[in-house]
Amino acid sequence: MTEQILRQQLLATSRRMVELGLNRGTAGNASVRCGKSILITPSAVPVAEMSEQDMVLLASDGKVLQGRKPSSEWRFHRDILDARPEIGAVLHMHSTFATTIACLGKDVPAVHYHIAIAGGDSIRCTPYTIFGEQNLSDLALEALRDRKACLLGNHGMIALGRDLNEALSVAQEVEYLCELYWRSQQAGEPQILSAQQMHEVKQKFVEYKKRS
Ligand code: 13P
Ligand code: ZN
Repeated sequence: MTEQILRQQLLATSRRMVELGLNRGTAGNASVRCGKSILITPSAVPVAEMSEQDMVLLASDGKVLQGRKPSSEWRFHRDILDARPEIGAVLHMHSTFATTIACLGKDVPAVHYHIAIAGGDSIRCTPYTIFGEQNLSDLALEALRDRKACLLGNHGMIALGRDLNEALSVAQEVEYLCELYWRSQQAGEPQILSAQQMHEVKQKFVEYKKRS
């Protein structure tokens, strides 16, 4: 994939996150692996004002190779792409339901079997720490162990994928799960799936993903 195509895809994904109601204003950011470097959205620019050329090219040590100021969250984007070779794209959102659960400081339990899409039986939530600092990256990396998503305490959500499309669909699933978790708690006490039930789901998903 050429850098120009990745720039277009990163902008398109950032716009989709806003269209889907997952982000608004300058909240959230996105990155994609570009060879040994990273392409990341610029800091404090509303998506509606971003162009392909505004996407910032970062070296793996975080040095800006080309462009303006990178997202204030470049550390966790860089650290995740560094630590997880199977991951090619990182999305960060302040979507309503994921952030609601993150404001409660709660992990999301197996309230619906689709939680397996995020990689396990739960989606972990980090403790609160200020945005844009190394500590947030360290906490996020830990919460993302064996997972494709986590919540950031009193802040938002991170979703990962092998590419931007997969990361966006993980993000939509996580937002949906958080909405289910929230809504089911309004109506009563949600029934949580057991480790055995989730083990069966994971096995079934292997078959399900084979399209023929
Ligand atoms: P940036 O505009 O710097 O990407 O910051 C937005 C954000 O969500 C910080 O956590
Ligand atoms: Zn944020």
